[in-house]
Amino acid sequence: MSDGRFEKIALIGVGLIGSSIAHAARRVGLADRIVGSARTETTVQKALQLGVIDEGFASPAEAANGADLVMLCAPVGICGAIAAEINAANAFRDGAILTDVGSVKAAIVDDVAPHVPAGVHFVPGHPIAGTEQSGPESGFAELFDNRWCILTPPTGCDPAAVSQLKVFWEKLGCFVQTMSPEHHDLVLAITSHVPHLIAFNIVNTAAHLERVTDQEVIKFSAGGFRDFTRIAASDPTMWRDVFLNNKEAVLEMLGRFSEDLTALQRAIRFGDGDTLYRLFSDARMLRRGIVEAGQDTDAPDFGRRVTGASEPNTDE
Ligand code: NAP
Repeated sequence: MSDGRFEKIALIGVGLIGSSIAHAARRVGLADRIVGSARTETTVQKALQLGVIDEGFASPAEAANGADLVMLCAPVGICGAIAAEINAANAFRDGAILTDVGSVKAAIVDDVAPHVPAGVHFVPGHPIAGTEQSGPESGFAELFDNRWCILTPPTGCDPAAVSQLKVFWEKLGCFVQTMSPEHHDLVLAITSHVPHLIAFNIVNTAAHLERVTDQEVIKFSAGGFRDFTRIAASDPTMWRDVFLNNKEAVLEMLGRFSEDLTALQRAIRFGDGDTLYRLFSDARMLRRGIVEAGQDTDAPDFGRRVTGASEPNTDE
């Protein structure tokens, strides 16, 4: 019977997600030992100082050596090369579970699967939880509480390994669902990737406006813009890799988005208030669904405290 516990967890990448996994695993005692590696020695040292990992290594292969759970917590584009390096060093333990947390799944399966030796169980995963912060100092144990984690086990994957990883994520605080990598990529394209692209774009559009000064953009940002800037502050390396590796699904969803935007543009141009009202009401209903599903707070302004700001809070 799966208990979600491991003797040695190797985190390859100890940034926001890797360090949050470490904190959450320690909170419920899921590992005897948590070790890690990163791209730079500075990050490994920081993770050690913060108590994220018990031991740090210069290479992924040294960290993975002897681990019964290896978690790739690095940007999507580098995961294949990391798996290849661990495999070339013969460092995967027989019977180990190899997983990842990448925001894209089909490309990771293509990149990583060829480097997984027989006897190692590759179960790709993606916790749908995050913030715009990066690095070991940004992690916290509660990140995964009441969030979903999607697993995309390949056909023929050992059910005991899937079950063990499922229980692990549940004990970290998640609800777990399995699906195909392709379906994951389509769903995440619309719920996460396209929204980030829109945020990056609107922030850059505002930054390049000539008739509105930068100071006005910042001063009046509570009119909706501020919430886009939070998303747009996300790590550029991570998001570059997401768009390079989920091209088809993102382009498909972007096409739908552009059509709907054109419909709104037409309604505004022709003064079609009924259409605008109907579309805005539909959107409002979806927001209520998210709050009812416990995936966000219904507190005004996302529960932000007003900290004596001299400007009125004018979310429109
Ligand atoms: P992060 O805070 O920037 O951390 C990335 C970590 O990967 C750093 O420790 C980095 O080390 C390490 N790394 C980079 N290249 C490496 C390499 N070649 N070998 C070993 N380690 C390497 O990023 P994150 O937000 O934790 O994201 C990590 C993964 O989680 C990504 O695949 C992302 O798609 C996924 N994810 C992110 C979120 C989110 O909201 N952020 C949510 C769900 C899933 P250095 O510091 O030395 O560069």
